[in-house]
Amino acid sequence: MTLEYFKHKYGYEIEGMWMPRVTAITALVSRSFFIGSFASVDWGVAVHSAIEKILKGEKYIADQKIAPSLQAFEKWRKAQGVKITNPTGDIEAKVYDFENGYAGTIDMVAEVQGKRGVVDLKTGNGMRDEYSLQTAAYLNAYNKGVQKKFHADTRWILRIDQYEECKGCLAKKKEKSGKERVLGGNSWCNHQWSHPVGEAEFLELEGQKEDLEAFLAAKEVWEWYHRSFLRKVANYPKNITQKVLI
Ligand SMILES: [Zn+2]
Repeated sequence: MTLEYFKHKYGYEIEGMWMPRVTAITALVSRSFFIGSFASVDWGVAVHSAIEKILKGEKYIADQKIAPSLQAFEKWRKAQGVKITNPTGDIEAKVYDFENGYAGTIDMVAEVQGKRGVVDLKTGNGMRDEYSLQTAAYLNAYNKGVQKKFHADTRWILRIDQYEECKGCLAKKKEKSGKERVLGGNSWCNHQWSHPVGEAEFLELEGQKEDLEAFLAAKEVWEWYHRSFLRKVANYPKNITQKVLI
């Protein structure tokens, strides 16, 4: 791997500084890093970009395959009375924490039931521990970049998924970008599948302080893992701070 490829793969440059992405760091502690994941990248990208356009009020032509997911999203948005006060700054917002040397992109910062928080959109199967680290890093970086009166107080995971259900045994079939998985039900049933239906799960995460500490610890491990490359990145915040100290 060349240094340029390393920089491109794991981070981006903001205001002349190169910083690793939050997700590059949390990937190191995710289960998928060890056992592989069912989550489909293409599927996630399609749902994310459609939702971004819905929120910004832009025109789009949605792929019919993801329509149930988008319906679930709209239903969630209406039921929770979701408000986005500053669409240009609070949708797909790039944030960074220069002091701790990392950056990331937040799906949205929204007001939900009177609270203001970071919402991270997921299209995979179920909740994962790494989401706590990711969103703690986003919330911290977001608040560092905005005035106190705009601070977010919390973070949520919005998981949007869709499945077909067997009319006989209630097994669920999930199909994404050609990959198929059947969950629950009876294995001897001759499944009769329904039309795909969307579902939205919305979960507030607690323990920001300890999650952020864990994220920063994960970042130390990530830095150690990539130490030979990082030493060569001239505009990596830590390299600059250390030079000043010497
Ligand atoms: Zn069945």
